[in-house]
Amino acid sequence: MTLSSVMADVSPKRHPDRRAPAAPAPARTWISVAPHLQPRHVGDRAPWGVVHAGLSGSTKTACGLPRTTWFVFWHLPFDGRKPEACRPCAHRLAELSRRDAD
Ligand SMILES: [Zn+2]
Repeated sequence: MTLSSVMADVSPKRHPDRRAPAAPAPARTWISVAPHLQPRHVGDRAPWGVVHAGLSGSTKTACGLPRTTWFVFWHLPFDGRKPEACRPCAHRLAELSRRDAD
């Protein structure tokens, strides 16, 4: 690799991380995503069947399913306590929030 010799010119003393104070990362909001839309639903559109948790910008659910073609319900934050909530997704989120609390 000869690339490193070129890159060495880019002031190595500068650490971009330095100027950011130790602020906690903003809480990521998990939204409801589902492969199906509830038919003939009145009002805001609603998911049909199992509801999974997804992050904006991510193409996978919290339980690891690809969700690129799924419906996204921005107005519905994922709630793992709901009966239609995906169990693995709820578990994953509980795990993550436990880790954040440490
Ligand atoms: Zn899931």
